[in-house]
Amino acid sequence: MIEIKNLSKLYKHHKALQSVNLEISNGIYGLLGPNGAGKSTLMRIMATLMKPTAGDIFIDSYSINSDPEKVRSVIGYLPQHFHVYPQLTPVEILDFVGVMKGIHNKAERRDQIDYWLNEVNLKKKAKEKLKTLSHGMKQRVGIAQAFMGSPKLVILDEPTVGLDPEERLRFRNMISKEGLTKSILLSTHVVTDIESSCYDIAVLQNGKLLLDSTIEDLKEKACNKVWEGMVASTFLESFSDGTLLSTEYKGSHMNVRILADEKPFYGASLVEPTLEDGYLALLGGTN
Ligand code: ADP
Ligand code: MG
Repeated sequence: MIEIKNLSKLYKHHKALQSVNLEISNGIYGLLGPNGAGKSTLMRIMATLMKPTAGDIFIDSYSINSDPEKVRSVIGYLPQHFHVYPQLTPVEILDFVGVMKGIHNKAERRDQIDYWLNEVNLKKKAKEKLKTLSHGMKQRVGIAQAFMGSPKLVILDEPTVGLDPEERLRFRNMISKEGLTKSILLSTHVVTDIESSCYDIAVLQNGKLLLDSTIEDLKEKACNKVWEGMVASTFLESFSDGTLLSTEYKGSHMNVRILADEKPFYGASLVEPTLEDGYLALLGGTN
């Protein structure tokens, strides 16, 4: 479905993407990486808003370099910062996007608008001006507009930022359903965001692809490396061989979880890693 070939992007002298090669199949695909990794750059290039310095991306076999209009006709895109006219209402924005996506039949547009506003739980705000909506509500208008026009591929750049826990859950359920019939690529720097909705993931760091695999594989990166146990609360003063994952104070002692290749203290025992542990292990414990 999506083939990224030797993709590089240079901003003046800064290498935001360095020879990225990746194939993304159907379903929900997670693009993970710390801030500055190059996720938004990759997605902007995919959405044909920016040209790469080198390389190409093929979406549904159309090239972003030689066939950008065809690419645009099969994708929906939520930018990381979704800014629209504050005087417009969600209905007006979705109507506008519907026209741009080529839905010329007014009744069909109205049906789609109704459907997507319901999916993002915004029916009650359908006719309120955007400037009166909260950040999370605006983000949900952004998510709805990305799905207008039945795109084959929906690109969502940090879609869960600003959503409260209840809306995150609703969003996860929505994309699980949508992922059955279309491809969804979503970026995030929050590991738990992708844990329950994605199976295939890629990890970017400093413009380079670190991992192109699955959630399980990412978790495995911390296998036999996560230790837990009680230590004196002065322990951290001399701690250096590993990454401190968490602490829980209990009087003069504390329970610590540590990411380390070797047993970090007497009495520490190996525990099952979480996805976040795997991510930290992959990044080298530096982020
Ligand atoms: P992410 O979305 O993973 O946080 P970005 O793609 O936004 O990463 O940014 C990747 C790198 O490129 C960062 O170091 C960022 O500062 C830099 N960058 C992004 N956009 C520009 C730009 N328009 N001009 C110069 N540098 C940029
Ligand atoms: Mg970004």
